[in-house]
Amino acid sequence: MEVTALKDSHLAQNPVISQMMQNNHEQIVFCNDNETGLKAIIAIHNTVLGPALGGTRMWNYTNEMEAITDVLRLSRGMTYKSSLAGLNLGGGKAVIIGDSKTQKSEPLMRRFGKFVNSLAGKYITAEDVGISTQDMVYVKMETDSVTGIPESMGGSGDPSPVTAFGVYMGMKACANKRWGNDSLAGKKIAVQGIGNVGQNLVKYLTKEGAKVYINDINEERLQALSKETGAEVVLGDAIYDIDMDIYAPCALGATINDATLSRLKCSIISGAANNQLLDENVHGLALLEKGLLYAPDFMINAGGIINVYSELTGYNRDNAMRQAENIYNTTLKIFDAATAQGITTHEAAKRIAIKRIDDIAKIRAIR
Ligand code: NAD
Repeated sequence: MEVTALKDSHLAQNPVISQMMQNNHEQIVFCNDNETGLKAIIAIHNTVLGPALGGTRMWNYTNEMEAITDVLRLSRGMTYKSSLAGLNLGGGKAVIIGDSKTQKSEPLMRRFGKFVNSLAGKYITAEDVGISTQDMVYVKMETDSVTGIPESMGGSGDPSPVTAFGVYMGMKACANKRWGNDSLAGKKIAVQGIGNVGQNLVKYLTKEGAKVYINDINEERLQALSKETGAEVVLGDAIYDIDMDIYAPCALGATINDATLSRLKCSIISGAANNQLLDENVHGLALLEKGLLYAPDFMINAGGIINVYSELTGYNRDNAMRQAENIYNTTLKIFDAATAQGITTHEAAKRIAIKRIDDIAKIRAIR
């Protein structure tokens, strides 16, 4: 039976396996523990380059299929992200189903750590949405397959400053491609989401003399950062309508969609948020057709994974920053490939990531 025919027949009867087949996921581990209330899913997308690394997200999913879809999509993104960043890591991700504010506990996190440990190093976990460094300390009590622990415990701590620096470097590469030089001085840049990454990015940009607009749902945070950096506050979704050169999404995913594309008047989109394109095929192409230069999210926000990878190999912040600086070169390489092949930057980034995995797989086969 042909693989596509096999996929179609599975799709109707077996939505989990067929979803795995669509993007060639290696493994899913379903975890349950009635004592602690833990319900978790670990997805391993690809381990050709190394162990699958990716954070654990705790989220109140409406149903199990939503959690499965999320963990499959996120783990695949991690494969591409690490490959492009030149790391010897595969892609994986975990989700814990539940409310992180009310259902998280030390036993639950430690039980999760035991499940991670049962994979014997094939999956390495870290923080993601709804999970704190303290939670990772509990996980660490049960497994060594964890990274992103606090600096006070010998870990690499908060990766956000490194992520922000990488985004800044990628944005400069975008400027170079679009305007012929790296300078962001005088450019009008809207940063949507001034959390851990966004606020560090705003500091780089205002220091360089960009005209920065900031947007967040947290007004107190907006006022404080505006006072500190001189950035101008824009409230609500008016951020999509302002006259700007660069839009930097640093809050949520899927903000590039039909509704926002008709409003955005920028030349460049480069920000930290994961999964910025609502539909990577439809909206990647729409950006190309509109002549907007888009820095693929999994390329430009790799600073975080670079930082936690460095923890695994003996943490050195200077090395991590140097590697994050290289996002500048990677960005230009991807833009050149996209132009040469007449494809979207998202597709070009994906192809380069996949090529590295395929090339290394061939080398691995040699004794
Ligand atoms: P964060 O939670 O610290 O900050 C997110 C900010 O976005 C918060 O200030 C929040 O109030 C704001 N926000 C939420 N909803 C919003 C909305 N509708 N409009 C405007 N603002 C809104 O997160 P972070 O660590 O800064 O990460 C930001 C993004 O970058 C996320 O998408 C994350 O997945 C991605 N990312 C982060 C890292 C990292 O190292 N932290 C690495 C890679 C990717």
